[in-house]
Amino acid sequence: MPIYEYEHTKKPCSLGKVLEVEQSMRDEELKHCPNCRAPVRKILSRFYVSAPKGDTALRDKGFTKLVRRDDGVYENVTAREGESRYVRPDKPETLPNLKKMIRD
Ligand SMILES: [Zn+2]
Repeated sequence: MPIYEYEHTKKPCSLGKVLEVEQSMRDEELKHCPNCRAPVRKILSRFYVSAPKGDTALRDKGFTKLVRRDDGVYENVTAREGESRYVRPDKPETLPNLKKMIRD
């Protein structure tokens, strides 16, 4: 299971200011320290901090990013030329063309 880091937003307790919590991806974010019940906030892992931030940067690195907009409708915010901006699971022609993106 992944380990998430949380920090006390007020006074640290015996666990220290920052605590590491093993959680399933499906678990809800902790709002309180399991030890002292004081409010905590999640710290983003270094992976996310160092990942490209803008959609353009993502596209340049070859990522496709889909953002959920509506009932089963996803916006392809990194749509390339000829790709559909909106993706509907029931319309295969709107899915990103992965073959076109993979080059030798
Ligand atoms: Zn605590």
